Amino acid sequence: MSGKNVTELVLADAAGIARAARCLESGGLVAVPTETVYGLAARADSAEAVARIYAAKGRPDFNPLIVHVAGLAQARELAELPGAAGVIADIVWPAPLTMVVPLKPGSRLAPAVTAGLPSVALRSPDHPVMQALLAACDFPLAAPSANRSGFVSPTTAAHVLATLDGRIDMVLDDGRPCSEGLESTIVAIRPDGSWEELRPGPIDLDSLHQHYWDAPYPRGPVDAEGAKPRIEAPGQMTSHYAPGKPMRLNAEWAEADEFWIGFGGLEGDCNLSAKGSLWEAAARLYAALHEAARAPQPRIAVAPVPEVGVGRAINDRLRRAAA
Ligand code: AMP
Ligand code: MG
Repeated sequence: MSGKNVTELVLADAAGIARAARCLESGGLVAVPTETVYGLAARADSAEAVARIYAAKGRPDFNPLIVHVAGLAQARELAELPGAAGVIADIVWPAPLTMVVPLKPGSRLAPAVTAGLPSVALRSPDHPVMQALLAACDFPLAAPSANRSGFVSPTTAAHVLATLDGRIDMVLDDGRPCSEGLESTIVAIRPDGSWEELRPGPIDLDSLHQHYWDAPYPRGPVDAEGAKPRIEAPGQMTSHYAPGKPMRLNAEWAEADEFWIGFGGLEGDCNLSAKGSLWEAAARLYAALHEAARAPQPRIAVAPVPEVGVGRAINDRLRRAAA
């Protein structure tokens, strides 16, 4: 049970994945690697299991969870897929793309998963371990990031243990950092088929949108929990992804008491990408924030990151971490 027992660190091989599936089946909590960040999984059809996610993370219960599915067929059991949603689920998934779509009446999801909303956030993750786990389970998995609420998201098993050791049953260790390193792009697809960006991420919505839908869609500032203020979802957090120290963004230099996260030619105490690659910077961002949190300096400075492509998502997370 979370809260008192030892958290087991288990190698994510076939035997480990089978054990994780049994643990989840009996209502346990397992941290699982995905291509974005480590997720904290529980069976999404059990109110008790889902309640344990909120308790272990200290997550406010008005903040709904993303449901991970094997693919289109499982998505159709849980939700309506309006407009291009069905085609995208079929062609683009598995991918770091979450779609918020209308919940199917009578779906077997525990109401707490959607925080009681009539919509559900669905994603099919592009990671062999999470896909193997979903194949071994005959239920969908609710999985927010595997960290205490408000802290920096985990991209390694060690990051998970840093805030959840003793609070969850198991961590499946992939042995390497998550490849994308940033949470999924979230798009709401409304009953009329229109789109709204709720959170920028690794998947570029503009190109996806041009391909699958022709009407314009709103994009804009997102709230502190990493998603845009929503008509259908209450609640906003003041700070998120936070390393627990004051942070100064767009820093072209660092003061003596600052740990400097560099980018490109601005070398820093660590560097998101010496060659200036935004993809590399995204993959390394949370590891850099974890390192900055552990560093002796009481404050953090971060070099400027261009606001293009996945740089939008990086800057979104940095603004939240600094809030
Ligand atoms: P995360 O914090 O990475 O688990 O992402 C979950 C985010 O997805 C939440 O903060 C919401 O903004 C969004 N989300 C999840 N489920 C829903 C839903 N049913 N309706 C609207 N937004 C949702
Ligand atoms: Mg999170």
